[in-house]
Amino acid sequence: MYISKAFIPILKNNPSEAKIKSHQLMLRTGMIKQSSAGIYSWLPLGFKVMKKIEKIVREEQNKIGAHELLMPTIQSSEIWKESGRYEDYGDEMLRIKDRQNREMLYGPTNEELITEIFRSSIKSYKLLPQLLYHIQWKFRDELRPRFGIMRCREFFMKDAYSFDINDEEAFFSYNKFFLSYLRTFKRLDLTAIPMAADTGPIGGNLSHEFIILAETGESKIFTDKRIFDVNSNGFDIEKKSLEDLRKQYEKFYAVTDEKFNKKEFEEKVSKENRLTTKGIEVGHIFYFGDKYSKPLNAAVDLPGGKKDFVKMGSYGIGVSRLVGAIIEAKYDEKEEIMKWPMSVAPYEVAIIPLVNKNDNSNLEKANNIFKHLNNNNIDSIIDDTDENFSSKIKKFNLIGVPYQILLGKKSDGDLFEFKEVGKDPKNLSIEQITKFITEQKEKI
Ligand code: ATP
Ligand code: MG
Repeated sequence: MYISKAFIPILKNNPSEAKIKSHQLMLRTGMIKQSSAGIYSWLPLGFKVMKKIEKIVREEQNKIGAHELLMPTIQSSEIWKESGRYEDYGDEMLRIKDRQNREMLYGPTNEELITEIFRSSIKSYKLLPQLLYHIQWKFRDELRPRFGIMRCREFFMKDAYSFDINDEEAFFSYNKFFLSYLRTFKRLDLTAIPMAADTGPIGGNLSHEFIILAETGESKIFTDKRIFDVNSNGFDIEKKSLEDLRKQYEKFYAVTDEKFNKKEFEEKVSKENRLTTKGIEVGHIFYFGDKYSKPLNAAVDLPGGKKDFVKMGSYGIGVSRLVGAIIEAKYDEKEEIMKWPMSVAPYEVAIIPLVNKNDNSNLEKANNIFKHLNNNNIDSIIDDTDENFSSKIKKFNLIGVPYQILLGKKSDGDLFEFKEVGKDPKNLSIEQITKFITEQKEKI
């Protein structure tokens, strides 16, 4: 793949409307384009990253036994009237009328619709638990959309829902998602901390927000630093083990501003361990019992012949927001260097030849390297433009391809200048490069 043939509309300068680094970088490298306030088109580079994130999210949902389905973006107002949220949701809900004058809406979330699907087919406790999820666009008419795709109106979300027979089983489901979230964010090379959260308009009694630290984050957080040292490895998908995992985290004070209590913070956390900072919410999990199953009448037959409303939880991940969140965590604004985690990088290697009109040799070498990498399942891109070397390197530093192969004037023989973005180059053979990159990929 030649960059001259790709659709990567790079801007020379930072767009002035962007206030935070992820928004700047995404516009600058042509990942997204605003189509109207808080609504974006995803251009090839941005779309590729988002799709890779989606794939990881999906794999980790499947690993805990959740089943994927797909609900529509447009919903009928009927079920929202049943739950009582049609009024409550207020102006954030985009309401639409069809040609028959029926009240429809663009889904901001899916508790009602999934409950309706559940109640129409599951009647017995024998079919529980059920963990269902979809990855679908949502619309929330945010009062102040801002920061690009971080707080926009149309966004891509993974939302999962659990259905259980009683609280004990429901907590087990909750904890499965708790684990899957830790695993998901780890594969994205993010440190996401589960924090006790307010349950907000979704309601209920148990909730965690998964927050990554960032100065530009909108959530204020108060935490015990030692929570960063908790090791989430080695826990099995089994009741006791998952409860232990959650307890490991809950030992430490970690809350967002809605739950913050100064006295409690000072009592529970010694001075040297206190951290007050900001973060980005990338995921949110809730347990809310029969909050929706009761008004929507989703009940199952119990072993003794009685009937009861199912106990539900819901579990969201901001798939599109994560693209920006990773940039906030990884982009060095001062040096203008981005390095995508290998697991979601838009390309894994950039092949950067110095191209000379009268001499094709570097471009030929680049083509051969490309073929070799491609045969080894390594996704690379060749910069075939006639720009000078340093501007090419700068461009890829910005795009954030994690590794670069430089073919300059002196490029001769079997060794190539190979460098990790932002670091010094090393001379390696193509076999050594392939081996190294393959090893990096296997780590994810
Ligand atoms: P926030 O507190 O940021 O407004 P929320 O609590 O309203 O989010 P949830 O209902 O918990 O959001 O949605 C699940 C996830 O969807 C959030 O953790 C976040 O990552 C993402 N998300 C929510 N609102 C937006 C938005 N306006 N733009 C992009 N992503 C969003
Ligand atoms: Mg939330």
